[in-house]
Amino acid sequence: MSSLESQFSKTKPGDFGVFGDPIAHSLSPSMHNAALEEWWRGQGQQSHKCPFYHAFHVKSDELRDGFELAKKYQLRGLNITVPHKERVTEMIPFVDEFAQECGAVNTLSFEEAEVKGFNTDGYGFEMTLKKAVHFDPMGKSALILGAGGTGKMMLRQLYFSGIKKIFLWNRTSDRSASVVKDLKKTLDISLVETKSDMNIALTSSDLVINATSVGLKDSDGLPAPDLTFSANQIYFDVVYHRETEFVTRARLAGAKVCDGLGMLLFQGARSFEIWTKSSAPVKVMKRALMESIKGKGQNSLWQFDI
Ligand code: NAP
Repeated sequence: MSSLESQFSKTKPGDFGVFGDPIAHSLSPSMHNAALEEWWRGQGQQSHKCPFYHAFHVKSDELRDGFELAKKYQLRGLNITVPHKERVTEMIPFVDEFAQECGAVNTLSFEEAEVKGFNTDGYGFEMTLKKAVHFDPMGKSALILGAGGTGKMMLRQLYFSGIKKIFLWNRTSDRSASVVKDLKKTLDISLVETKSDMNIALTSSDLVINATSVGLKDSDGLPAPDLTFSANQIYFDVVYHRETEFVTRARLAGAKVCDGLGMLLFQGARSFEIWTKSSAPVKVMKRALMESIKGKGQNSLWQFDI
């Protein structure tokens, strides 16, 4: 038995999990196992038969095998995270509209003979904007720092939610330039490259988003050069386990600010609903997330009710 298959040998039919590399740091198992226990109890089922959510360490060249093993071991649902969200779309016949637009799937549902793919990150992002900072994108402007998978997903979600204008900056400008080129016909979108572009973007945007991976490490500074912070804007950082320089500077400027923990919670809640066809126990999931963060000696900015 391969080392990949040995991870599946601990599962039972109807279980769930997440594929990623790395995966040991993931908070999804604690959030989903708390939700599954609550849901199972609510149905009056025997606790030893409760489905379990596993973290599977699946490397890039193991994705196809992992996918086949998930079917063989009759898992009911999977989350897909870095670095597999884009490649997994090639393995499934049904991909929902938003996931198709993003070219990325983060949720798989195994329904009898069929496997369906969804992207619930956009929902997680939108719900967090709404609940944490009361931001409705309709008719507003936003500056997105980062044109990786998450930046592109946020761009599409803001577009679907009626944003009027997007400014896009990326460290490697070829990447942002190609996104802007693709979307220019459908969306008022400008590339941010120079200091002057950044000044215009900052003074014109209601929302400023850090969608880069800068901030993951303690030693990280700001994600982009020439950033300034003002009390009149809202700041969103995708990082969720520590206060980043971006968040600190926004907070000190007196601005409304939120981190990525809400996004993690709400994308998970939507995945749970897709799998179980029941409403997700979001309060239970939030509590589990906060306990995990605390248990790791980490910090979240979370200050809103759900
Ligand atoms: P990705 O596709 O690999 O993109 C990474 C992005 O970060 C690119 O724009 C990259 O720019 C930029 N970047 C990396 N190092 C940089 C540096 N030193 N200076 C400036 N920019 C830099 O990754 P992703 O999937 O978009 O993920 C981005 C972040 O979002 C990660 O921190 C991830 O953990 C987080 N995330 C959070 C949630 C949540 O629920 N809160 C969900 C999904 C992702 P280049 O193109 O120039 O390399």
